[in-house]
Amino acid sequence: MLSGVLRRVFGTSSERAIRRLVPLLEEVRKHEKACVGMRNDELRAQTGKLKQRLDPAIRQCIEQVASEAMAEEDRPRRFRELIQPHLDELLPEAFAVVCEAAKRVVGMRPFDVQVLGGVVLHEGAIAEMVTGEGKTLVATMPIYLNALVGRGVHLVTVNDYLARRDREWMGPIYEFLGLTVGLIQHDMGTWERQVGYRADITYGTNNEFGFDYLRDNMAVRPEMRVQRDLYYAIVDEIDSILIDEARTPLIISGRPEKSTDVYYKVDEVVRRLRKGPHYEVEEKGHHVLLTEEGMQWAEQLLGVDNLYTDEHIGTVHMLEQAIRAHNFYKRDDEYVVTDNQVFIVDEFTGRILEGRRYSDGLHQAIEAKERVPIQFESQTVATITYQNYFRLYAKIAGMTGTAITEGAEFAEIYNLDVVQVPTNLPLIREDETDLVFATEKGKFGRVVEEIVRLRGTGRPVLVGTVSIEKSEGIAEMLWERAVTDFEVLNAKHHEREATIVANAGKRGAITIATNMAGRGTDIKLGEGVRELGGLAIIGTERHESRRIDNQLRGRCGRQGDSGTTRFYLSLEDEVARLFGGDKVKKLVNWLGSDYMDEEPLNQRMVSRAIERAQRAVEEYNFEIRKHLKEYDDVMDKQRRIIYGIRRDVLEDKDVRDRIRRMMENIVQDAADRYAPEDRLPEDWDLEGLGAHSHYVFGFEPDLSVRSSDSLTPLVESLVEQVWAEYQRRESLIETDLRSSYREQVGGDGADIDFAKLARKRTHDLELMVLLRTVDEKWIDHLYSMDYLRDSVRLRAYGQRDPLVEYKTEGFEMFEDMMVSIEETVVQTLFRLTDPELRRARQAQVRLGVKRPREDPFAQLAHYTYVAADKQQDRSFVSYDTSRFALAGQRSDGPARGAHQPDRPRRVPIRHTGPKVGPNEPCPCGSGKKYKKCCGSV
Ligand code: ADP
Ligand code: MG
Repeated sequence: MLSGVLRRVFGTSSERAIRRLVPLLEEVRKHEKACVGMRNDELRAQTGKLKQRLDPAIRQCIEQVASEAMAEEDRPRRFRELIQPHLDELLPEAFAVVCEAAKRVVGMRPFDVQVLGGVVLHEGAIAEMVTGEGKTLVATMPIYLNALVGRGVHLVTVNDYLARRDREWMGPIYEFLGLTVGLIQHDMGTWERQVGYRADITYGTNNEFGFDYLRDNMAVRPEMRVQRDLYYAIVDEIDSILIDEARTPLIISGRPEKSTDVYYKVDEVVRRLRKGPHYEVEEKGHHVLLTEEGMQWAEQLLGVDNLYTDEHIGTVHMLEQAIRAHNFYKRDDEYVVTDNQVFIVDEFTGRILEGRRYSDGLHQAIEAKERVPIQFESQTVATITYQNYFRLYAKIAGMTGTAITEGAEFAEIYNLDVVQVPTNLPLIREDETDLVFATEKGKFGRVVEEIVRLRGTGRPVLVGTVSIEKSEGIAEMLWERAVTDFEVLNAKHHEREATIVANAGKRGAITIATNMAGRGTDIKLGEGVRELGGLAIIGTERHESRRIDNQLRGRCGRQGDSGTTRFYLSLEDEVARLFGGDKVKKLVNWLGSDYMDEEPLNQRMVSRAIERAQRAVEEYNFEIRKHLKEYDDVMDKQRRIIYGIRRDVLEDKDVRDRIRRMMENIVQDAADRYAPEDRLPEDWDLEGLGAHSHYVFGFEPDLSVRSSDSLTPLVESLVEQVWAEYQRRESLIETDLRSSYREQVGGDGADIDFAKLARKRTHDLELMVLLRTVDEKWIDHLYSMDYLRDSVRLRAYGQRDPLVEYKTEGFEMFEDMMVSIEETVVQTLFRLTDPELRRARQAQVRLGVKRPREDPFAQLAHYTYVAADKQQDRSFVSYDTSRFALAGQRSDGPARGAHQPDRPRRVPIRHTGPKVGPNEPCPCGSGKKYKKCCGSV
């Protein structure tokens, strides 16, 4: 049995990989024999037994991981490393159980090559198995084995239809064995998703998985999150997802309707505030402080009850930035205004800093002050590339019919090996040599001729095209020949399409489809078709990537079927024209116009030139994806830090410690600034330090603790004072609670733990302020990073490496943001707990903690989700459109020849949440009009 498998092993490294696995296969088969005799319930009981055997290992691995020193985020990967050998041990039995269950439940017993493919997936590699080999079934074995760990397994498909199909098809196998299966679909709400992710095994698309990850990291309450760990993912059609779609990152962008007006409004308010009574400023540290009077005035002007509630905290910050814009930034000094835009002036060189923006909302405040348009179109609130999303999993694996051509990329970017798994039956498909025509007209004429001829024989034909227009063109030509019994597909409705493609193998069927249409659907031959020669595939143009051509070819000849494929090309085709090189051009010239259109040239040279061109384009595209990744890597580190903080806050981990650390950092930073160690104590600016404390903490500290040579005692004393003050405020809240209880309820409330209540109140405040601040600053930072990326590209002309600049400046900006987060969090907390401020507004406020009026779940619907367009087969077009494309910017990058600005754009798909009109009732359920409620600024 095995010699047959081995005879068909090809590529050398794959051959070795496969040979190594053969003993495992034998073991699987041995255990399978034992399973055959089991009753259904006995077979099912194997799951429990395997889990039981695995349990001690899991516990031991968890302990081991916990005992090792490493970053929190590295632990899952370490765990999976440790658990892997234990799973290897169970593999033969687990796979055998699935083999037998599959046979009983879906009537398919995995072939030897399928078992081998399953092992490859379990090992975390890519199994290249040609179309029709049954990869859907292959995945069930590693999925089952890895699901025993209990951390979830994701099976990633390219569209919703396939996710559903595969879940319905394979799900019963797992369920038979006692595991749970979930499904994620685009139109599902939070709760359904939670159920889907809680299952042992979850089927879904790359977009849904990726967007759910981002959305979970925008959640303002823990119960809004849907995903669990990202433990193990098997990506089906992995080349389509990690190569074709990887050029466009996932982006969630925010509501622009909320963004710009408010800056002008706030600016109006600030124009009417006066320095002194309404706010205080401190020039040196650029500090500003709204007084109680100023605050009330601002509230009145803005028409809000209370600025210190969590919905308006952002507005307080905007007010402060506007005050800064008016007090510390002068036109033609710090900045200039040209063409209705605000440009920063470099304070050292006096030159305009092209493409730089002040961060943290300051730039917008200046724009409002200057009454120029606010550059704030669509705010990215979260973004990630597929590359970085999938790297979050502790283990990933993939399967596809075509991966080997991109083997280098998979290895370099994803650390994934490609293993070619031999086919179950010998492949007898014939790939005929290309026919090359001088003109497109000649080519299509011959294609139609061939369709008509094949139709006469009853052989089914599948014609692959590069676009819907081309498909329709062929359809028209067929109509002219009075041929009407054909199907034209356009990759818009996955499900309908799948049914049609599935029938493309029937006797006499003629199907015209774009190359990508119906991917993942199996084409079975109809009765008697095999004898006629099987399915005939006609390719009408080369794709820029050989992989896509191979996909088309792979649609026939499955499981030992007969079949033929042939590509019809012309010198007018895009690939030939753009990338064919000089020889092709010369040939075209030489042919002139009088060459017979209809006759194929039989020019091997052209075929070869095209293949060379394809390789060049593949490399070029790899280059672009690599760039995207390099840039996103900078962001990835930052994203992990921020998401890490968010997670801790949401899960309420060590929040108090974090606040205390923030205070320490602020004090230390201020001390370093006002009293640097390298200056003599008499030069220390203690007054400045005191003023700083006043602005941030709202009280005047005692600065008398000093020693002659070191700052440490002073810093320590300051930290203690700040901390003591913070705790004093908590105890004041306790006192207030006590007295308000006495007033409103009566009695002394002896059975009430007021201290605990007060603690809870401050704690709620801490969580709210932390989350809000982190989100606001992070989103702003994303915007600045976007801007920075554009601006470093311009600098590339100045011999500077844009990536290096992006890294350095991005890092600095991130550091600044972190400092700014700390200051804002602590300052806001001290404001919110300020006894005077609190008393002054006790009437309307209960400590400023109000549950947000907006339903946070509903909020998510306001965002726009942007991802790569799966409908688009053709990716020639994207060089100049991806906002990450850096075509021609690098001296060592690929040639610019491919850059064609007049090409149609690769359009991202946008899913936009329902738009609410200003006069409609607010979706939050308040009963007010939208514009008066959540829609108001
Ligand atoms: P792929 O994803 O590799 O292109 P599919 O998973 O769509 O292939 O399966 C192709 C066809 O092969 C399906 O019709 C499936 O029923 C059939 N098939 C797969 N494995 C087996 C098996 N072990 N025995 C019988 N039929 C199988
Ligand atoms: Mg498939």
